[in-house]
Amino acid sequence: MSLGEIRWLLREFNIRPKKSLGQNFLVSGALLRAITSAADIDKKDTILEIGAGLGTLTRVLAEGAQRVIALEIDERLLLPLYQVLQDYPNVEIVQGDILKIDLAQLLAGPGEAPKEVNYKVVANLPYYATSAILRRLLEAAPKPQLLVVTVQREVAERLVAEPGQMSTLSVSVQFYGQPHIVARAPAGAFYPSPKVSSAVVRIDVYEEPPAEVDDVEAFFFLVRAGFAQRRKYLKNSLPQGLGLSADQVTSALRRARIEETLRPQALSVEDWARLYRELAPQLR
Ligand code: SAM
Repeated sequence: MSLGEIRWLLREFNIRPKKSLGQNFLVSGALLRAITSAADIDKKDTILEIGAGLGTLTRVLAEGAQRVIALEIDERLLLPLYQVLQDYPNVEIVQGDILKIDLAQLLAGPGEAPKEVNYKVVANLPYYATSAILRRLLEAAPKPQLLVVTVQREVAERLVAEPGQMSTLSVSVQFYGQPHIVARAPAGAFYPSPKVSSAVVRIDVYEEPPAEVDDVEAFFFLVRAGFAQRRKYLKNSLPQGLGLSADQVTSALRRARIEETLRPQALSVEDWARLYRELAPQLR
């Protein structure tokens, strides 16, 4: 949808975009093409779009996919969405909050029993909740097979970070899938323009996490404890965070072949998993 159409719809339905909900609507054809081509859309696909907004992306998704679930939190956008999407019977418009909604039920459809559904997520995510939404989707059952999401550029860089620059967000995402930046977009690709530029990230979700971990909750308890004091060496921060002795931590680091004087940013997902396996009996 062009900038003119977006402005017309907002005026026609008397809507002022809400900053608090991250309402920056897509107005760049180039970005729209980058997102849809990264999603490899197929006629058999079920796509969950989070934050359908005024339906710009939804319409293009509906042209290529079998079924599109267009979730939108803001009730004010439902009427324009129905209008924009009236010729697309394969779109289900649902009002709700991705952080609260029952995903299995949403994917099954109204009145249907929850069942296994293969699906992709395609979304221009609201910036205020990017990390929470990604965690929700990656930890969810059922998990999407692929996500193509537009996020702030700085967040995109954290998602694809390598050892040396890791954060809890990069570990959480890279534990479940492989992220790549597929396109960059200037602030002007959205109306109203946000203050920052954006990037499109494709995350290919692993069928099974490649890092061997028997208790995902305990694993992330360890990771969070490691990052709680990111300037400290792991041998100094972990005993306090985990309630273990310095000796227990030092000897686990040694067995996991991790230098004691590393900080948490230096560890890959596989390093965390090795350390977890050494510490697991003491974390229970
Ligand atoms: N997809 C549209 C586009 O590309 O123009 C809108 C993208 S806009 C960046 C983000 C959208 O997410 C807004 O329409 C906003 O109302 C919606 N949203 C914000 N928080 C949400 C939540 N928790 N659950 C579902 N939708 C949400």
